[in-house]
Amino acid sequence: MVITNKLKFDSPALTMGGVRVGLSRAIKILGLTVDDKLTFNEHVANVCRKALNLYKQLARAAKIHWGLNPEVSRTIYNAVVEPVIMYAASAWAPAAHKKCVRRQLDAVQRGFVQKIVKAYRTVSLNSALILAGLLPLDLRIQEAADLYEIKRGLSQRVIGNREVEKPVSFLDMPHPAHGGELSFAHLTGEGEPDQPDGQSLHIYTDGSKIEGKVGAALSVQINNTETESHQLRLDSVCSVYQAELLALERATALAAESAAQECSIFCDSRSALETVVNNVSLHPIAFKVRQNMTTSNIPPKKLKLFWVKAHIGVEGNERADSLAKDAALRPQGEVDYDRFPVSYAKRQLRLNTLGEWNRRYQSGTTASITRMFFPCALEAYRVVRKMRPFGIQTQVLTGHGGLSEYLHRFKCKESPSCTCDPDVPESVPHILFECPVFGREREDLQQKLGVNVGMRTVAGIMQGRKREEFMSFAGRVMEAVCKRNSSNAIER
Ligand SMILES: [Zn+2]
Repeated sequence: MVITNKLKFDSPALTMGGVRVGLSRAIKILGLTVDDKLTFNEHVANVCRKALNLYKQLARAAKIHWGLNPEVSRTIYNAVVEPVIMYAASAWAPAAHKKCVRRQLDAVQRGFVQKIVKAYRTVSLNSALILAGLLPLDLRIQEAADLYEIKRGLSQRVIGNREVEKPVSFLDMPHPAHGGELSFAHLTGEGEPDQPDGQSLHIYTDGSKIEGKVGAALSVQINNTETESHQLRLDSVCSVYQAELLALERATALAAESAAQECSIFCDSRSALETVVNNVSLHPIAFKVRQNMTTSNIPPKKLKLFWVKAHIGVEGNERADSLAKDAALRPQGEVDYDRFPVSYAKRQLRLNTLGEWNRRYQSGTTASITRMFFPCALEAYRVVRKMRPFGIQTQVLTGHGGLSEYLHRFKCKESPSCTCDPDVPESVPHILFECPVFGREREDLQQKLGVNVGMRTVAGIMQGRKREEFMSFAGRVMEAVCKRNSSNAIER
């Protein structure tokens, strides 16, 4: 295969043992099909074909009124389909912006999300994605590619000129035979470790995040009296976990330099301690803590780590906690640590993705009924993860169900009107907010909720606690209408 951006070039003539070796247009390498124009069209077509084969099997087992539970479909999608399509996404992500590629990805995803929310096949991708709480595939692919770049240290485009916290290289790690056995003890109440005496140093560490600011602190005590304290400030993008580790790092550095014979370090973050004692962990701060502990003057058996439960009244811990909060709230100035964790990058990327998705959702021509309930994709993303709609609820939220208006649109019924008035089409807003047939039930609901249900209030109801009450009413109404329409169809 020849990859070049020249329009005119000589094809190389290769011979092997007197036999001419021909050129090929695409090569599959490590599961990624690379073509000579680097369009990745063939790769996308391959993975989509693979996913469609999966869909065919799923479609046989998951129908609207029976078959696989929607949660099973969701698990299959998350665990099998998405990874199949997103394999090596960082290599071919730029191709996902192309219209033809997006169309293919959308077609594949639409089938699966319809199964997840048990929607009719006519439901649009926009609606189904919102109700399933899943992100469009092309955006997911871009997100994965961006995360890969950030992990490699190329974060300017997404995060600005901050640096990511990179793991320690394997080459810098000590040989497994050399790393000593590290452990930490649990301190459940006061006074369990070696009783403080003039020889032993007690260091309490803590990290804290308050009002979006991060700080860490250590309080050094001899004979239960504080001899010195240190406060550290971290960048606001850092996590409490990083703050706890940084405090441990400073504490071990202090212990390593001190002339004390014994030292106990107390920390209230179990996860931070577990990272420290895990010899194979590549976390850069934990790595430094281990280095400090091995180079310390205090013999390893006398340098002890303790986990202390937070807020149970251990004095030193409370002191470190208040120092750390104070450090976090200190006026702006130099920060002691500013590498952002990967979790922060993930959160930022997800926010960007949701923003783009929301723009697409709000400017789309489809999903008008779904937009009535969920005007904003970001809010919907939060809500649907709690309610997980499917079946009759999906019919209400999409308008694709046994309503006269819908049945008429797809030529299954002669008239689109409701039984209450031949001039009024039987649509979701009509049956939920206007139709006199359900007037009494609606009145009861409004009494219970304390608000009028209508086009204007419904988005607010969906966000709040009254959602379940409202959805059960909507489900009952929808079921009654579907029943009415199906029995009419039989009579005809
Ligand atoms: Zn009506």
